[in-house]
This record gives sequence, C-alpha cells and structure tokens, in this order.
Amino acid sequence: MFGHGQFVNDFIRHALTNVSDVNVIRHFVGFPLLGAPVSLNEATVVCLDIEWWQKDSSATTELGVAELMVKGLLPTIHAENVLTSIQVAHARIMANAHLRNNFVGAGDPENFLFGQTKFVTMDEAKEVLIRTFVRPRVGGNGSLQPIILVGHAVENEFEHIQNAFGIDLQSYGSIVKVIDTQEMARKAGIRGPKGPFIGLRDLLAHFNVNINNLHMAGNDAAGTLIAAVLLALKDTLYPGTGTRKPPSVVRGCNIQNVVERAMVIGKTLQPPSWGSDTFCTRCDRDNHLRDKCLAKVSCEICRDSGVIRLFNAHKTHMTSKCLYQYQDLPPRDHLVRPLAYPQHEGPGAFTQQHDYVDLASDDDFDPALQ
Ligand SMILES: [Zn+2]
Ligand SMILES: [Zn+2]
Repeated sequence: MFGHGQFVNDFIRHALTNVSDVNVIRHFVGFPLLGAPVSLNEATVVCLDIEWWQKDSSATTELGVAELMVKGLLPTIHAENVLTSIQVAHARIMANAHLRNNFVGAGDPENFLFGQTKFVTMDEAKEVLIRTFVRPRVGGNGSLQPIILVGHAVENEFEHIQNAFGIDLQSYGSIVKVIDTQEMARKAGIRGPKGPFIGLRDLLAHFNVNINNLHMAGNDAAGTLIAAVLLALKDTLYPGTGTRKPPSVVRGCNIQNVVERAMVIGKTLQPPSWGSDTFCTRCDRDNHLRDKCLAKVSCEICRDSGVIRLFNAHKTHMTSKCLYQYQDLPPRDHLVRPLAYPQHEGPGAFTQQHDYVDLASDDDFDPALQ
C-alpha cells in the first residue's frame, strides 16, 4: 500500500524483534543501538493513552498522545533535557465529555498538567489517531515515518481503538516496535505493591515522581513516556541502585522539580491545531467551559423520577447528559404527591411539575390529592 517505504519499516521491525525495550528507548536518548538500521534514526517515540467511561467502555472520553522531541542527546541529570522535551496533546471527546468516572483514583479530565486540552468530535479524534500513526517520511516518496509506540498495559489500547474507532493501528505498517512500560518494569524487577504488574502511579513513585492527576489521558501519556525514559536510563542516571528506589535528589537537583518544569514548558507550547479550545459539558455550547456556564438547563428524567433527591437536582443538567439514561433510577420515594406548579420557563415547558413530599414530614397529607 505504501510502496517501498513499507519494506523499510518491515526491515526495522525485523531488526528490533529481539532487541529489548530498554535498548530501543536508549537508542533515542544518547545510547545508539549497535548494528541498528540507519533508518531507525528517522523513527519517533510516541506514547498513547485512551480513557473511557467506566460504566460503558464503548464511550471513549479522552485521548492523550505524548512524543519525545529531543533525540540523540546524552541525558543530563534525571534526563532533564529528554523529559522536558516531551510534548503532550490531550483531547476530550465532546459527545462523552460529561461522562465522569468515579472509581478510586479516577482522573479529572479538566486538569491537564502538560499543555492545553482540546475538544474534538469522535471523527476528529479518529483523525488525530490517524495523523499520529500515518506520517509521511521526510523525502520518503509516500512511505511512512517509523514509530516506536509506548504504552502502559498497551494491549488494552489497541483493542479499545479497534472497537471504538474501527481502526487497527498496526495495519498502517508504521509501528515498528510496541513497548509496554508495565513489562519493562517487570523485567527490571520493579514490582508493584500487589504483585508483578505495577500501576503507573506506583511506577512513577518508584522514580520519586508524583503526577497529581493520573487516570487522565494527557497526564497518563506524559507519565508513561517519562516512566519509559527513566526505566531505560536508570542504570545510567542512578548506577548501582538495581531494583531499589533511586535517589530523588542528584547533585542538588530533584526529579520532581524536573517533571514540574516539563509541565510548565508544556503549558507554554502552542496547542495542537485541531479541535476546539472550549466546550461546555453542561449546555453543549462551544464558546465557554462548564465552570463559566450560565445556561438554564433541566432534566426531564430527574424531574419525573419520583425521587426527591433527583427532583431537587433536575435543574443542574440537561436530559441528554443524565446518567439515568444509562442506568436504572433509584426506587421512588415512598410518598409522591403531585403539586400544581405555576407555568414557567417559556414555550415547550411542561404544564404541570411534580413536587415530592415525604409523608413522614407532611402533616397535611391528604390522600384525596393523589
Ligand atoms: Zn454552558
Ligand atoms: Zn437527570
């Protein structure tokens, strides 16, 4: 499909088959791989993270793409020159952006630490993925730039992308190596508190790095790439530490400050050209963010639910954003007494609104009113 270039990538892929993940990453951070094909130097290192709604995995909520921009330089203390070169894009999918996860440790999609969030449609998100993995090689007459793909438990991402976007990332032929930081950690003998498979938070903590808001695609993509670089360079940056935790301060420089500098630099970069800067997950307008929303909204499901708690919240969201579209309503409160309400809120508003009164606290209850 992509002519001769395809063979170049096949050649690189083949040459890297038996090369360890550590040595592949090291090639890009100052320690060239002996006997590597010259064309490996054209490759780029990309980290991908996808988040979806915990209650329905088909609802993709976020996309994070981090890329190593400095290649071939010897690393400075804590690899600061490499880590501060990481560029991260974060996209929230508009149709699903109101679906919030609430499991323990769930991330806040509104708090992207390494740059500026963009809002995209599902089609634009697909386009971002394709543009990430299908890039013409410079002077390569139609062939594609080779890509080293880094992920944390990356098999899940491939599967999710196939299901959600109908694309098989590996079918383009550009990915020449897939590197899993969870696997790198296992091989390095760095174990999680609950066994051999370490979570991203614990892996970063091993290297004395704390990223405040993980389980958020942009921050996870950045954190995973940071972890990959530190895993690849640990014996160079922190010689003799083996599987033990390395020092957080080396020659007066604290790794956490390095990561925070990477965040500050990321915030100063031009955001990606795609997508919209603003989108309101409350009212669906694209000229403001949710915290600036003044729109009047109302949910018919909650209004008519017969549940006092939901009724009281029915003006906080639109029907289309109501979680009770996807899940059963709680049981109705034990006494429901409809009350006549004055007409309100213009054309199309309901003629009667229900108020729900708790029997136990209502001395005036009259069954005839039912
Ligand atoms: Zn709004
Ligand atoms: Zn509702």
